[in-house]
Amino acid sequence: MRQQIAAANWKMNLDYKQAKTLLDTILAQQIMLEAHRKVVFAVPFPYLRMARKKTKEMVNYEVSAQNCYQKKSGAFTGEVSVEMIHSSGARYVIIGHSERREYFHESDQVLAEKINLALEHRLTPIFCCGEALSIRESGKQDAYVAEQLANSLFHLTPDAMQKIVIAYEPIWAIGTGKTATAAQAQEMHAGLRSVLARQFGQPVADLIPILYGGSVKGSNAKELFSQPDVDGGLVGGASLIAEDFTAIIHALK
Ligand code: PEP
Repeated sequence: MRQQIAAANWKMNLDYKQAKTLLDTILAQQIMLEAHRKVVFAVPFPYLRMARKKTKEMVNYEVSAQNCYQKKSGAFTGEVSVEMIHSSGARYVIIGHSERREYFHESDQVLAEKINLALEHRLTPIFCCGEALSIRESGKQDAYVAEQLANSLFHLTPDAMQKIVIAYEPIWAIGTGKTATAAQAQEMHAGLRSVLARQFGQPVADLIPILYGGSVKGSNAKELFSQPDVDGGLVGGASLIAEDFTAIIHALK
């Protein structure tokens, strides 16, 4: 079975003590994860090491950075490299979140560079894509999202592509309380999978987890995740509430 992933994106929230308490509360539930299930905590950079120390003893619990820089090392004051992230014990990195694309003007080309560096340093990229409301209203979401994939991922070999996790996150559903319906999510995910199949072959496309993101909560996760092409979620707001995120973990297929 394809990997099913509940990924928490804490964004720029929680102080150090609050972060430790949240992790402790979730991990205290001792939710056992079968081999095809994973929980990933995408925490702020200063908390990567602490989060790894706390999750280390638990099987299939991993830590992720929320971003990385597109150069290996050097005079880039304030930036964080993939090597630093890997050496902290994290094994995932979110690349191309819509907030990075919008507020930090990260282009598809820059994201492709980040993908390459992450893979070279044995980090699994969680590559985000998704359309704004105006694009959905004009009915062009399929082509728009396919182009995001093409521009940042189609240079990869099928072998490299198998190491990527995709997160489809319609921007109109992020932090708005508006969730795509399970049918809308399934339709987009199936479409993305066929785009991947055309480029990399069906067997590769069948292996790639495609997560849904956009106001996933404890109350709607089960319905979303039950769709055949929805392989879990990338969760913002609800991942900061232990009870909600625990329910989301339980909702994984
Ligand atoms: C996100 O930021 O990736 C996200 C999906 O946020 P939220 O769950 O709050 O909509």
